[in-house]
Amino acid sequence: MEINENVGDDITTLLFTLSHFLSANEGKSTWIIDLIAEKNGLFNIKKNYFLVLTKQKRFQQAQDNLSNFCKDKKIETPKILNAELTLTEEGADRSTLTIKSNYSIEELACELGSIVKKYKNELFNFNQQINDLKNLAIKVLEAFAQIAELNLSQLRLSEIKAEKTYFSGIPDLVQYEVDFAASGSQLIYPNPLEMSEDHVTYIMRNKEKNPFAISSKVLPNIDQVLLQYRYYYFIYLFHEIFHCFQTLNNQSDPNNGWSFEHDASFISSIMMLHASKLGTHESKKYFKPGKTEETMLFLADEGISTHNFLLKENGDEYLKGYEKWRESFGYEKPVSQDSFSFAESNIRVLDYYKIRITSEAYIEYYNLCQIKDGEVKFF
Ligand SMILES: [Zn+2]
Repeated sequence: MEINENVGDDITTLLFTLSHFLSANEGKSTWIIDLIAEKNGLFNIKKNYFLVLTKQKRFQQAQDNLSNFCKDKKIETPKILNAELTLTEEGADRSTLTIKSNYSIEELACELGSIVKKYKNELFNFNQQINDLKNLAIKVLEAFAQIAELNLSQLRLSEIKAEKTYFSGIPDLVQYEVDFAASGSQLIYPNPLEMSEDHVTYIMRNKEKNPFAISSKVLPNIDQVLLQYRYYYFIYLFHEIFHCFQTLNNQSDPNNGWSFEHDASFISSIMMLHASKLGTHESKKYFKPGKTEETMLFLADEGISTHNFLLKENGDEYLKGYEKWRESFGYEKPVSQDSFSFAESNIRVLDYYKIRITSEAYIEYYNLCQIKDGEVKFF
């Protein structure tokens, strides 16, 4: 494996970590287990990823890969390569992650931002990423089928084609063009490198839910969108491939889309975890140790901010609906509308439902595994 392969994900890791420090005070970031939301995996993920960053040395590994990339490109050594992460245990429910550097978080992020700007086409090959992850997702589905002694060969999963969304330039279509879609043997994905200003403005409309808390002074919106989609691809690709499977398998959804959404969300993070352990070239290229935890933290950040937003705006109405949906394993609708018309005016709530079920499935499954010598081991 080439050492520089996929260094775009390493830079994303570094910037994501810095954005966590920026959102906290004075370069310190803390996690707190929310005892009230005991069943809420969103909060536990935070703890796991902080441990991965330090104990599994994800941050250091990303620094090493970036260092090789910079030598290769003859880029002056970025300041972040001398920064150090430390974790302080302060008690059973709280830890602090600190970054030690002679420079401010903004200075460190600014420099990384300029590398992203200059090399974005080389660092983020989204078409390649989607095709590689698609192949991994199909391999995982086939592995699951083998365990369940199912024969999927008649579904011809290997014929699923990934196609880029056509950006029409029509303002009313922007909200549909930024999403993924899948059915049968077709998967449609947006390529953020080709997005217009309208797409970027739409994606960044809820500033407070943006897990990249790096201000636009450090990194313009368009580049923040690139980093966000790097994570969206990791998780939503598995979700969409499962929709392909559902339709190719002629499944029907008596629950107007809600069962389909539940199942695709529930299984996506478990599929991603398995993909990270396949040991193939593609698996090692994308899933460096700690990558699934990091992706889930990205999602959990988005989920937690919407969770708090909904509580403030609507009380617990939508959250109660979520629990009904989850406890019935997708058989009961969380709201009275079907999932498609609900999405039209409540896309943020629907995204929250999907994120939360994805995160909770991940954490339950993750807890069945054990972390040993910096590696996740399955029982
Ligand atoms: Zn879906």
